Amino acid sequence: MTNSAEEIDAENKIIIAEDTKVNFDYLHKRKLKKPVSVNLYTPQPLPVTGPELGGSIKEVLRNKGIGFHPQRQLASIDYDKRQVKFTSADSANYDLLVLIPSHKAPEVILKSALADESGWISVDKGTLETKTPNIFAIDDVNSITIPGRWSPDKPMKLPKAGVFAHSEAITVTEIIASRISGSPSGSSFCADGFCMLEAGEEVAGFAYGDFYASPHPDVKLRSLGKTWHWGKVLFEKWWLAPFGFGKSILRSLLKIGPSVLRIPVKL
Ligand SMILES: Cc1cc2nc3c(=O)[nH]c(=O)nc-3n(C[C@H](O)[C@H](O)[C@H](O)COP(=O)(O)OP(=O)(O)OC[C@H]3O[C@@H](n4cnc5c(N)ncnc54)[C@H](O)[C@@H]3O)c2cc1C
Repeated sequence: MTNSAEEIDAENKIIIAEDTKVNFDYLHKRKLKKPVSVNLYTPQPLPVTGPELGGSIKEVLRNKGIGFHPQRQLASIDYDKRQVKFTSADSANYDLLVLIPSHKAPEVILKSALADESGWISVDKGTLETKTPNIFAIDDVNSITIPGRWSPDKPMKLPKAGVFAHSEAITVTEIIASRISGSPSGSSFCADGFCMLEAGEEVAGFAYGDFYASPHPDVKLRSLGKTWHWGKVLFEKWWLAPFGFGKSILRSLLKIGPSVLRIPVKL
């Protein structure tokens, strides 16, 4: 696949045209003038799931002169030659390879009676309780089926994300507390999620949505801007702050944005 910033050379290796302005923060700050090309390979058809979000991210990559190569399933890596090979029979050379390994549950979960045939733990989508009463599984180790978004007949899995880990933990602690005290619990995990997508140069996008929406997940992306970047900075300051008055102030500040924008964010 090529875009206006790319050409294919004689070895079928994708290169970025020299006149393309590759504006990467780190390289700029290090004053590295040597042309650097950055390429993203993924087995998926788009950078992230779904046409709306995926198309927007693809555009961001294109504007930055980052080569995007979909449907490239990694077959092998030759570390001596610094070359990756794909199942599609093409290959790419690299100086620096950043690789995301396949995601799987730790051995302790895989060997437990809780894991299902997929290797993850199926839970009730509202209470996050496993098939064993009073045992709960939150975030990456759990497996929650949600309606298909792009092919309604193909259900998807709730993405594994820190934002869900956070709200799942709140829900489960409330349920456990109410079971211990014997009071009814109205707490149920709602799968409202959000994510600031850092794009460098102090701008970020903001993706948010209801992953339990019917008939399919409802996810939106706000265009790149400084607001989202500074929102992320504030979020990190709040997250890393020790418990106390300062953390409460940061939390109050952080809640202003979502309430003005009417974006449900559980902190
Ligand atoms: C590069 C990267 C970027 C990400 N960016 C985002 C983002 O922008 N936004 C977002 O929402 N999410 C993001 N995520 C996802 C997010 O980090 C995870 O979904 C989240 O951390 C999962 O939380 P968890 O508690 O389920 O698991 P973890 O955070 O992985 O915690 C599990 C813990 O269990 C420990 N452990 C494992 N086995 C054992 C054992 N046998 N005994 C004892 N302890 C054990 C591990 O060491 C680990 O500390 C990102 C993930 C990665 C890898």
